[in-house]
Amino acid sequence: MTMPTGLKLVLFGPPGAGKGTQAQLLKERLGVEHVSSGDLFRHHLSNGTELGELARGYMNRGALVPDAITIGMVIDRIGQIADADGFMLDGFPRNTGQAQALESALHERGQQIDRVIHIRVADDELIRRLSNRYICRVCQRPYTRDAATGAPPEGCADCPDGGDIYQRDDDTSEAVANRIAVYHQETAPVLDFYAARGLLANVPGEGAVATVNESVLRALEGNADEVFP
Ligand code: ADP
Ligand code: ZN
Repeated sequence: MTMPTGLKLVLFGPPGAGKGTQAQLLKERLGVEHVSSGDLFRHHLSNGTELGELARGYMNRGALVPDAITIGMVIDRIGQIADADGFMLDGFPRNTGQAQALESALHERGQQIDRVIHIRVADDELIRRLSNRYICRVCQRPYTRDAATGAPPEGCADCPDGGDIYQRDDDTSEAVANRIAVYHQETAPVLDFYAARGLLANVPGEGAVATVNESVLRALEGNADEVFP
C-alpha cells in the first residue's frame, strides 16, 4: 500500500503579486502547509536570532539574503513537514541556485514539486500595492489602507485579540523599487527552470482576490497552460 502524498506547490511571482493572500486561501481549501521564506526570516528578526541579524541588512534594502543562509533555513522547514501533508512555498526559490538546491533536496527524499503557479502582475500595480500594504504581526495576513480615509485597519480581523497591524521596513519606496529590480534580474529566470520541467502555470494576478483564487484553482487542475497561455 502506498501512502497518500500531499500536494507540493511553488507559489511564484513578484513581491506584491498576492502570493501570501492566495496561500492563506489555499491553506483553507487544500490543507497544505504554507512555507514563506520571508515569514521565516521575519520570525528570526523578531526573535533576535543570529540568522535574523545576518539577514536584516539584506532585507531592509530589498536585496536577496545569501543562499548560504536561505537554502538551509527553508529546506530544514520543509523537512519538518510530513510527506502526506504537502506544502506550498512562497518566496522560495528566488534564484536558479535555490531552485536547483530545492530539486536535489526533494529528490533525496523521493519527492518533487507538482506545480508552479506564477501569479503575474505588472510593475506599476506592484509598486502601488506594496506602498499601501500593512501586515498583521501575529498571523502575517496582509491588509491595505482604507481607500477613503487612507488609514490602515486598527487590528487584525483573524486574530482573537485583534493582532497589531504594521508596515514592513522594506515596503518603503526605495526598497520596493529594488525588490522589483531584483525580481526581474535574479528571480524571473527561475520561470525557465520550471517551464523546462513542464511544471509552470501562469495566472493573471490583477483581478479581485476571489477571481485570482479561481484562476489559481483552475491552474491546479492541470490544464492551466491552455486556460492561461
Ligand atoms: P516580498 O515577496 O513581498 O518581497 P518576502 O516576505 O517574500 O517579501 O521577502 C522579504 C525579504 O526577505 C526579501 O526582500 C529578501 O531580502 C528576503 N528573502 C525572502 N525569501 C528569500 C529567498 N528565497 N532568497 C533570498 N532572500 C529572501
Ligand atoms: Zn492576524
